[in-house]
Amino acid sequence: MTERASSLAKTVSLLAGADEVCLACHVRPDADALGSMLALAHALRAPGRRPQRVTASFGDQPFEVPEILRFLPGLGLLSPPEAYPDHPELMVTFDAGSIDRLGLLAGPAARAGELVVIDHHASNTMFGTIHLVEPAAAATAVLVLDVIDALDIELTRDIALGLYAGLVTDTGSFKFSTTTPEVHQVAARLLATGIEPGAVARQLWDRAPFSYLGLLADVLARAVLEPDAAGGHGLVWTTISCADRARHGLSLDAVEPVIDVVRRTDEADAAVVLKQSDDGLWQVSARSKGAVDVGRACARLGGGGHRNAAGFTAPAGPEDALAQLRALLAEG
Ligand code: MN
Repeated sequence: MTERASSLAKTVSLLAGADEVCLACHVRPDADALGSMLALAHALRAPGRRPQRVTASFGDQPFEVPEILRFLPGLGLLSPPEAYPDHPELMVTFDAGSIDRLGLLAGPAARAGELVVIDHHASNTMFGTIHLVEPAAAATAVLVLDVIDALDIELTRDIALGLYAGLVTDTGSFKFSTTTPEVHQVAARLLATGIEPGAVARQLWDRAPFSYLGLLADVLARAVLEPDAAGGHGLVWTTISCADRARHGLSLDAVEPVIDVVRRTDEADAAVVLKQSDDGLWQVSARSKGAVDVGRACARLGGGGHRNAAGFTAPAGPEDALAQLRALLAEG
């Protein structure tokens, strides 16, 4: 038995035997984190299964589901971190590369009897007792589907929609190089439950308030191209301050897609957007077309991610963060 198969078998027997299962995804969840967690929450409540208490949460204060994810089925299954058991017997984490990514739920994770870590970040610190960590997986959702299949639970639309949202997000709408034939086979199984891909895409990306156009105009007008940066592969970057967001009445989540416009720049392999959150801290999102590894650079700066998409928090501000990134990306 391979290590992955034995981890999967252990996970299945723990999930089958537990009276209570506590699920947690990373803070400020994206579709892969929240969708994967909700999918397993739905699956564990499938008819015919032994009833189990299922607690699902993420460690944010205030506890708020990002607006673009509010179409996912099963938000009623979520509870705030205050209601989370202090000493979970069995806890499962989703899409979190390290224990600090669990925010307020890092404590319960450290005290959990068994901690199953399901993730696809190459930077995963292996902080659990059982690891379903596969950096080659296109999304955590793919690994959660393996668990659901191994539990012999039939896919429903509610289960599939969370997984599909994760898969379509983490593959950049099936555009990233992680999009293998197997990924499309997984997508086909999920869509066969009755998901309408156009409706999911509209919810996730193809909508914004009118004020977003004004913010885009401001921040794109000040974008900077550095063709010689990133070892000659080019860097393009821009900033979004609290004042910019306030002027247009937009939340931090609402400006997340700006990077998808900036990264189109032909003359730059690396794209960076520095966004100031409400607490004044700067959050840095980085993307690469593949020539440079932004995941490694961001990991060196206390963040994480993948070769093509990564991020970190910059306590010393945007100029400092850019200087550090420039130095690291120059190494390739
Ligand atoms: Mn993911």
